[in-house]
Amino acid sequence: MLNIDLHCHSNVSDGVLSPADVVARAVANGVDALALTDHDDVAGIASARAAADAAGMTLIPGVEISVSWGGQTVHIVGLRIDPAHPELAAGLHGIRVGRIERAQRMAADLARSGIHGAYDGAFGYTANKEIVGRTHFARWLVAQGHTPDLRTTFKRYLTPGNPGYVEHEWTSLENAVGWIRASGGMAVIAHPGRYAFNARGLHLLLDAFRALGGTGIEVISGSHHPSEYGKFADLARAFGLKASRGADFHAPDEGSDIGCLPALPHYCRPVWHDWPELAIHLSSSMA
Ligand code: AMP
Ligand code: MN
Ligand code: MN
Ligand code: MN
Repeated sequence: MLNIDLHCHSNVSDGVLSPADVVARAVANGVDALALTDHDDVAGIASARAAADAAGMTLIPGVEISVSWGGQTVHIVGLRIDPAHPELAAGLHGIRVGRIERAQRMAADLARSGIHGAYDGAFGYTANKEIVGRTHFARWLVAQGHTPDLRTTFKRYLTPGNPGYVEHEWTSLENAVGWIRASGGMAVIAHPGRYAFNARGLHLLLDAFRALGGTGIEVISGSHHPSEYGKFADLARAFGLKASRGADFHAPDEGSDIGCLPALPHYCRPVWHDWPELAIHLSSSMA
């Protein structure tokens, strides 16, 4: 049984470990193949690949693209992308520029609640100055003593109806799936259990995604409660989508660790079932 984890973050986006350290952690956890899927940036893939090659682990180039669809933010993971593809690179660059402008509005909104200095404060938690997001603001708010931990921070700040939350128009579902496919990759809906759609809204999303050429949904995710795994496995099957597995790891003391979640239910068709780069692990585990 291969240990495959297809969703995690480095400090190129809102994780805390460098890409090489993310790979080292995956290796230590017994992962056979890891996708690095930073938000809206592929800048960590080269160093992650170098570390993975040195350790004999398979690195899948990935990305997690922020999308606006149906009045909500939806995340689309791209797997086996070409990080150098110009259309993908240009699209991601546009999203990063939008993040900077959003951060200014977030900081202005926090200032209206009496919290000043959040823009510079959040940037103090970024390793890559091109990606700033709510997690960086949240880490700064905790460090400033406004809240005890990240979970509480997202309850009181940075979420709809709370200080620091601003509306933002990300890219379209069509663009995200299109860029991923243009670069040779496969599109997967991240953590479908995290969205506030009702059943009909979720079905509409899955239909639209499939019509655009999307391939899979995350079934086993660090953002899903174990009681939800069966529901998303069933939905994948009903909508003709493949299934993915990923911890959505960000930091050693936050959320799920790399490669530590349960395997996919046996009746799922894994997104990786025909990936040639995994054959080496399959032959060595059969030997
Ligand atoms: P952004 O893309 O800048 O809007 O930030 C989204 C990120 O915030 C997610 O990828 C998570 O890392 C983090 N996040 C969102 N909601 C929560 C939450 N309730 N608890 C912890 N982290 C969260
Ligand atoms: Mn994140
Ligand atoms: Mn996400
Ligand atoms: Mn993620």
